[in-house]
Amino acid sequence: MTAAPITVPALLADRVRAAVATVDDPEYPGVSVVDLGLLESIEVHVDGLVEVGLVPTFSGCPALGMIADEVRTAVASVAGVDRVEVRWLGAPAWTVDRITEAGRDAMAREFTVAIRIGRQPVACPRCGAETTEDSLFGPSRCRAVHLCPSCAEVVEVMRSGG
Ligand SMILES: [Zn+2]
Repeated sequence: MTAAPITVPALLADRVRAAVATVDDPEYPGVSVVDLGLLESIEVHVDGLVEVGLVPTFSGCPALGMIADEVRTAVASVAGVDRVEVRWLGAPAWTVDRITEAGRDAMAREFTVAIRIGRQPVACPRCGAETTEDSLFGPSRCRAVHLCPSCAEVVEVMRSGG
């Protein structure tokens, strides 16, 4: 009457997700790649293969290989996982909307990075005052540098690519 152990794919996927969440973004230590919205898909196959799909924040980021290696190592340590494949997906496109609330809080607190949705004003992560764009650093496609007129903090602003 002893039943063979059954791996429930949904539970395994939860453990895989938790393992991925232990990997921090190299650029923002303390902010996990899950909080940054990089994790797109987890597929658990019956033969023990787990496929993890990630979306890159910015194309050409030199840390992508490092992130994939760390995710592969973390997921491989999960019980029930035999093989891991980590793939960078071409779609959907990563946007700042994918960053979780916890990720936004950590980035504001630790790195004075603010997230800008559309054209809304950017509040200073330190004091809450409205920041202004620093014309010395012209905005790139995804990032800009703002200055806080109240506390003089330099704020890195990540924004939607559109
Ligand atoms: Zn400020």
